[in-house]
Amino acid sequence: MVSLLKKRMTWIIWLLIFPLSLWFTYQKYPPQISGLEADVLLFLLLASFVAATPMIINRSPVFLIQWVSWAVFLSFGLFVELVIIQLALIVLFIRIKLPITEFFRIPLNSLMFFIVSFLSGTFYYSLGGKTGIQIGELHDSFWLIIIYPIFNYLLNHFMIIMLNLLVYNGRKVIFGKDFVWETVATLITFPIGFVLYTLYVEIGLAAVLFVGVPFSSLSIILNLYYSSDKINGFLQKATEIGHQLAEKLIVNEVLDLFIEKLTEMLTVDSAYILDVVDEKELKVLRYIEKGQVISSNAGSLTKKEGISGQVWDQRKPMLFHKKEEWSHLSKGYLPETIESVLSVPVIRNNQVTGVLILASTQKRAYEKSQLMIIDILCSHFAVAIENAKHYEETKAQSERCALTQLYNYRYFENLLSKEFERLGTSEREQLSLLILDIDHFKSINDTYGHQSGNEILCQLSDKLVQLIGDRGTVARYGGEEFVILLPNAAKDEALITAETIRGTIAVHTFTLTQHMEWDGNPLGVNITASIGVASAPLDAEDSLSIIRHADRALYVGAKRAGRNRVAEYVR
Ligand code: GH3
Ligand code: MG
Ligand code: MG
Repeated sequence: MVSLLKKRMTWIIWLLIFPLSLWFTYQKYPPQISGLEADVLLFLLLASFVAATPMIINRSPVFLIQWVSWAVFLSFGLFVELVIIQLALIVLFIRIKLPITEFFRIPLNSLMFFIVSFLSGTFYYSLGGKTGIQIGELHDSFWLIIIYPIFNYLLNHFMIIMLNLLVYNGRKVIFGKDFVWETVATLITFPIGFVLYTLYVEIGLAAVLFVGVPFSSLSIILNLYYSSDKINGFLQKATEIGHQLAEKLIVNEVLDLFIEKLTEMLTVDSAYILDVVDEKELKVLRYIEKGQVISSNAGSLTKKEGISGQVWDQRKPMLFHKKEEWSHLSKGYLPETIESVLSVPVIRNNQVTGVLILASTQKRAYEKSQLMIIDILCSHFAVAIENAKHYEETKAQSERCALTQLYNYRYFENLLSKEFERLGTSEREQLSLLILDIDHFKSINDTYGHQSGNEILCQLSDKLVQLIGDRGTVARYGGEEFVILLPNAAKDEALITAETIRGTIAVHTFTLTQHMEWDGNPLGVNITASIGVASAPLDAEDSLSIIRHADRALYVGAKRAGRNRVAEYVR
């Protein structure tokens, strides 16, 4: 950002220098246009046309006016050149719709072009160069025709470097791709300017057509080439991102990578990924502001509601360049400062499965050509998300018990061996294992039915998870037996936890809604459980023996001793 002070300074400096210098130039190098006023007008038209069709390179316009300005300089003198360039600049600024915050570039560029032309012109005159269409043969001063463009080009670049240092604090890349383009452009434009001048001297105004048409075509072709070059780059990147997305198996990782890549490619201040839930509503999956993921409690949107609701309904992308264009659609979720908005439906198997919204505080931040790329990325994204969701579901299914949603035995065994590895590397000092078995569960089944037994298993599972929280892991060991792993818990602590669990179960009333004599009223049932406890490294050295020992404590210490009790393993 350029500070307000600097912006104001440019206007003040412009006001101090520009009018006076123009007046001075008029006095020193009066325009050589008597009888040629109509010609000057036509050259002005040509300059305006060139200014209205700038090449846009890296989102900044490259203004190839030199060929016209040089022909104008040679034909009508320095003053006319200065005026025509200034008028062409106005056309350029209107064409690129300069935002108000960038208005300081008007005096800046005005001065810059003025200084470059003025010094180059004065230099040319001081070396004996002449201007005007009556000078006829220029052969004598041929070397001047070579020196002027070189001087002009070098001076121009010197000015760009100075500007970069003074105004932008050296933040702009000077010798990047733009520099190459400008150098190539200079190599083309100056000879063309000279041709325009000599032809104008020979055949008059028709020269403007003969030179203008081919040159304009050339600049249009260069423009097309550059934009297709750019789109190619984008496409290549999109494919690359597609591959990277396909490699991710976790939904959150897919989301993060997608957002990360989008913000790398485009200017994004806020981004939303919304998910179509049950074909009914749109819910925010991810909300990012200035690169930070913000947990969103924004409500949901229905079809046609807000920008994303519209995109969902119409299944087509939407692109807005400024706030006025979308504010009537918005439901007020976008930050106040947003101007540009780009919204694309995420489509999978012909179904809209989500909506992407990118937003920027700049006006005209997104182009139509980028819409296509984002569309391609969104289909890669849709596939990647679907795959990741599948993967996560399958994984959950393979790790969890279908009835209680607790981890299953297979998962638990893995976890236990990993914990023992940690114990080996002294990453953990100790751990404890609880095995819980419901007392006389068979009679519950016999009395109320298997369905009711299942209800109790589910309610007990929830209760255990709730009691253990993040202190450990609860798993279904089989039938009506559960295991609880408490990493870092010493035996005393584990015994206290076991006693709490036992006590809680003993006083809790489980409600049956599906018992055999269902009469519309839930039935309350009480159960008890026995628990065996073993710890490592105190009681066991490996995962198999800790299970065996806890089991032994359960059967010998608790069940045989009368049930509804906690027992620890003793050697
Ligand atoms: P105790 O442990 O106190 O010695 O008696 P128990 O009756 O609980 O022991 P037992 O091991 O003899 O019986 C376990 C019963 O648990 C047998 C089976 O009917 C029941 N069971 C096992 N898995 C399930 C299940 O998934 N659902 C239901 N409803 N019952 C199950
Ligand atoms: Mg049992
Ligand atoms: Mg039992």
